[in-house]
This record gives sequence, C-alpha cells and structure tokens, in this order.
Amino acid sequence: MGHRRSKGGGALSYYITTPIYYVNAEPHLGHAYTTIGADILARHMRQRGEDVFFLTGTDEFGEPVAKAAEEQGVSPRELADRNSERFRALMPKIDASIDFFIRTSDPGHGAKVQEVLQRVHDNGHTYEGTYEGYYCPRCADFKTPTELGPGNTCPIHEIVLELEMEQNWFFRLSAFQEQLEQLYEDDPTFVLPDFRRNEALAFIKGGLQDVSLTRPKLSWGVPAPWDPDQVIYVWFDALLNYYTALSYAREGEDLTDRFWPATLHVMAKDILKFHSVYWPALLLAAGLPLPKGLYVHGYLLMDDKKMSKSLGNVLDPFEVIERFGVDALRFYCFREVSFGQDGSISPAGFEQRYETELANDFGNLASRTLAMIERYRDGTIPAGEVDAALAGGDDGLGDLRVRVCELLDRAEISRGLEACWAAVRRLNRYVEERQPWVLAKGEERSSELDDVLYNLAEGLRVVTLLLAAYMPGTCDKLLAALGVDGRELADLGSRGGGAEVERIPALFPKLEAAE
Ligand SMILES: [Zn+2]
Repeated sequence: MGHRRSKGGGALSYYITTPIYYVNAEPHLGHAYTTIGADILARHMRQRGEDVFFLTGTDEFGEPVAKAAEEQGVSPRELADRNSERFRALMPKIDASIDFFIRTSDPGHGAKVQEVLQRVHDNGHTYEGTYEGYYCPRCADFKTPTELGPGNTCPIHEIVLELEMEQNWFFRLSAFQEQLEQLYEDDPTFVLPDFRRNEALAFIKGGLQDVSLTRPKLSWGVPAPWDPDQVIYVWFDALLNYYTALSYAREGEDLTDRFWPATLHVMAKDILKFHSVYWPALLLAAGLPLPKGLYVHGYLLMDDKKMSKSLGNVLDPFEVIERFGVDALRFYCFREVSFGQDGSISPAGFEQRYETELANDFGNLASRTLAMIERYRDGTIPAGEVDAALAGGDDGLGDLRVRVCELLDRAEISRGLEACWAAVRRLNRYVEERQPWVLAKGEERSSELDDVLYNLAEGLRVVTLLLAAYMPGTCDKLLAALGVDGRELADLGSRGGGAEVERIPALFPKLEAAE
C-alpha cells in the first residue's frame, strides 16, 4: 500500500496512532493489544531509518465521564486526571515506545479542535436542527434504527435506550457520500484488511445521514466556537486528536507539516464506522489531507466473548507481565491470533507457546549458538561463507528481511512474526543437520565448523534484529551477547566474522509449576 512517502528525498515519514482510550475504562488487555500492535510497526519502521512519530493517549470529554465524576463526587477534571494516569502508566509496562501521550483535555488540543471546526462551519458544512434518536450514554453515540438491538437496546451494552430530542448543530455528512465512495474506489487499501473495507463501503453505500456535531447542556467538552452554549460531540473532538497532537507535542515546534497526513491509524473493529466514514468526511469538510490508511484489528476472545470490563471477563495484562515478562505477552498476542481476525486466547495456550516456541525454539537456538561459539572458538564468531542451503528456499534466511518488511508495510504483524519463526526453526534444523559437535571432533573439518558457526551466528543476528520490534527487551539482551551494536535490519552475510560473543542466562526460563 502506498502509505509512506519521502520528504525531500530523506527519511520517509511514518506517523502511526492508536485510538485514544476512553478514561472511564480500566486499562485491559484490549488496550494493550492495540498499542503493542502499533508499537511493533513503529519500532520496525525506526529500524528501517524512517522518521517515525507514534501517538497514543486518552479521550476525556463527554457525558459518560461527567456522569461518573458526579457519582464519585469529584470534578470531571479530577476524574480524568486520575484515570488518564492509569493509561499513561500502561505504556512503559508494555514497552510501548510512544512519542507523545495526548489528552483531549490538553489546552492545545481544544484550541486546535476549535480552529478546525470553525473552518468546517465557515465552509458551510454545518446547520442547526433538532435531533431525535436513541442515545446510548455508554457508547456516547446515537444508534440508527438498524444498529438498535431488540427492544431499543444497545447491542454492545445490552441496556434499554431512551429516545432523546435536542437542539444540535449538525454536520452535513450526507454531502460527502460521493467523495467517500470515490476515496474507497481510488484507494482500495485505505482500510485494511479487505473485509473491513467492504464493511465500511457497505455502510457508506447504504446512504449517509447527517449527524450531530454538537450537544447542548454539557459543560465537559470543547465549546463550539460559533455557539459556545454547545460543546463538540465527543467523537469529533476525539478523532481530531490525530491532527491536533502534532501542533503542540513538541514545545516551540509544529510537527504538522512533517507528519500529516498520518500513515496509519490502528484500531479495533468496534470503532470502524467513526474512523472510516466520519473521520475522512470531517477532514474533507475542513479541507485537510486524509490519512493514508486504517488498519482494523479483531478481538482477543476468552470463552469466545470480547474482553471488556462491562462484560466482566478481563484478563489482566499486568498479571501476565508479572509472571511471564512483557515480551512473552507481546509475542503471544500476535502469534496466537492472526492480527486482523478475532481469535481465542487462554492461559493454557499461553503456557504452551511459552514453552515450545519461546523457551525451546528461540531460547535454545540462542543459548546453543552462543555456547558452541564459546566452546569451539573461544567466544569469537569465526569468518565463513554464507551457506546457500540456509539462504535459499521458502523459509530461507537470504531474503528474510525483504519478506518481513513487505509484510509489515501492509501491517501484517502476525505473518511477519510467522516468517521470523520459520527462520528460527530453519536454524534449529540447520544445527541438527550439520551437527557442529561432530565437526568439532577433529582438526580436519575445522573450516567446515567455522562455516556452520558463522552461518548460525549470522542467521541468529538477522532474525533477532527483525524480532526486536516484537520483543525489544529480550532481543536487546541477545543482540548485545552477539556483539551487535546498531539496530538496523540486516541480510545474511552482511557482517563478517570476528565479533566476540558472551553467554547469557536463558532468555525464557522454564516455568515454575503454577500455584
Ligand atoms: Zn452502548
């Protein structure tokens, strides 16, 4: 997909975002999943030398926060401050290498929202009207008749909705019907995966209705600049975070020209409509360039239900990290469930992959490679020739970097990981086939042993550099042990022999029996 572009022949700009998380929720594995997915892409693109900006943050305005604050007897600002901090604290725990954490209550955000929406108003895309519809206070969204569950309920929250009537400013979404259809026609990869694109396009082709842009009677929000009695509907203010953050993320510097339009918005499927329909229409109305693409992922399911606080089946990522380490969590989420699809996860599945893939496949490859170089060559990687048998074939190491880069260009995070894992297994088979311990028995096969050890060290270096985006802490340790300084991606044979290696404790220690 043509999602990246060069600025003046230098590094490509790569601006990636997660949704901003609603402060009323507790951070759970779903938030971690989206953020880790975006982080893998951000880290990978940095390794390719691209000019990366990675944004996450919290969505803080709207009726649900105002109501929760009232119930708790605090101001909405106090509640938002407290809850936003929990999401900020999640970032280092999951090793998310964010460049900025936006809060929609930031003054810089509100000012920029007003500037953009004044332009939408001035361009004639708003009008005053009366809205009547079924409103879910927990979604902060009106439901169209086709979106209502049985008995006028919210299908997500399973609560009965009230018919509400209010005076609003409307956004002329219907005026963008043709332009949106054209956008999807012109850029078939605007929304990935394909089946999500089809969903979005079907929604558009079903006929777009104008939507409320403002809401009256609320004080916790960004006032509409042309009518301060109304505040901007929380979804529009939230969507604009992707654009506003660039204007104030760095003090005294406006990053908008450097990074806008965004390269990729990553999100879960429940907010597809807002991002694939409302968001491009709003930008068109303001005369701003559209993001290059959206990647929509599925849900991690336990007992085949979406994980959420309100459904009471939350798997706590902090507990998982405590016991298995953050890299095991980062690995498992993208290994067990193909990114883009829904899929089931379980503690048993987790432990199995930890043992067989992390401890056995990868951990053993690392420890035996380091151990054999130390034992047979005093800890110095010998010089050698690239082995054509290891380099070639479908799972060959020769074009691994190119294959993984192509997959991650399309945000195919699980398939990229699968390609790396095939290489890990290929290297383990190489050890079994070439039997370095047999070659080491006499001097006469010494140069053959040099070649095998060289290829093992090279193969491990190449695959670990690619895996560093997925499991940064673990790969840093292993790369240091292999005498690798930089994090640029590499091809088999691009480094000669001579580096000193050192032995390190097991990367993924065997599990203690569960209590
Ligand atoms: Zn709802």
